[in-house]
Amino acid sequence: MILVAGSANLDFVVRAPHIPAPGETVLGGAFQTFPGGKGANQAIACARAGGARTQMLLALGSDAYAAPIEHSLREAGVQMHIVRSLAEPTGTAFICLADSAENAITVAPGANSCLRGSDLPPLTGVSYLLLQLETPIAAVTTWAQAARAQGVSVVLNAAPACELPVALLGSIDLLIVNEGELACLAGSEGSIIERMQRLNVARVIVTLGPRGCCALDRGEWLLQPAFPVKAVDTTAAGDTFCGALVAALSLGANLAEALRHASAAAALACTRLGAQASIPSYDEVQALLRA
Ligand code: ADP
Repeated sequence: MILVAGSANLDFVVRAPHIPAPGETVLGGAFQTFPGGKGANQAIACARAGGARTQMLLALGSDAYAAPIEHSLREAGVQMHIVRSLAEPTGTAFICLADSAENAITVAPGANSCLRGSDLPPLTGVSYLLLQLETPIAAVTTWAQAARAQGVSVVLNAAPACELPVALLGSIDLLIVNEGELACLAGSEGSIIERMQRLNVARVIVTLGPRGCCALDRGEWLLQPAFPVKAVDTTAAGDTFCGALVAALSLGANLAEALRHASAAAALACTRLGAQASIPSYDEVQALLRA
């Protein structure tokens, strides 16, 4: 079983001709709301990836924004451990989506900031713990350490970019970052492989957008090209990648197989609007892998 501990937000999305520059106002189209948040997106990607039982620890406010988030997770088959905040609203994210498919996102964390280390549910039956950095880093560190101590594999998607405490880095079995996050953790000097080595984590994956991804697996170097698709919205590409990857690993795939599966799922997510709504089913991923 996979446990995802992390953020859940309601995304407010507006399409615009381009992302506004500082001080600029851009007239966009109608706004739409979508359940999102890196944690919830990744939990849904795990659950849709076929056969991987998924639980999620999340925090929500006592407001109307919580219901669509709960509905989306429930519909995907994710079992929820909800911390209900009375003081903070449900997390929200404001996403500007440009015609070029690029996006700019501002998150108001709200209830996500209430999660504490002591909120981690019992880890009985859990083989993978999947974490991100949209919840307080002290809690993330405590969860990683607790899981590591109980023999659970700890996967961290170190997004959004920030420096990591040594105690957190030392408790990770697999680190997933994009190029910006790698630069934040390992600087920009040296080749990608040198910078990945510098992190001192057993397995590191760097995602490279439409150029695919690369991995360093205990000294072994792996490359996986992206699947060519017509991208319309890359919002949940990284989250879909992380969830599908951990689901594949938990079902016994080796890292090369899991990278292929995750890349196909992420490519499909780029072809549709929204975060959770864009995450493909297992059958859709298999169809792309066979094409
Ligand atoms: P993030 O969204 O976290 O910044 P990336 O942009 O690196 O992550 O994308 C994650 C993965 O999604 C990539 O490794 C790739 O497999 C897939 N992906 C992203 N953009 C595209 C695209 N335009 N076409 C196909 N696959 C893509």
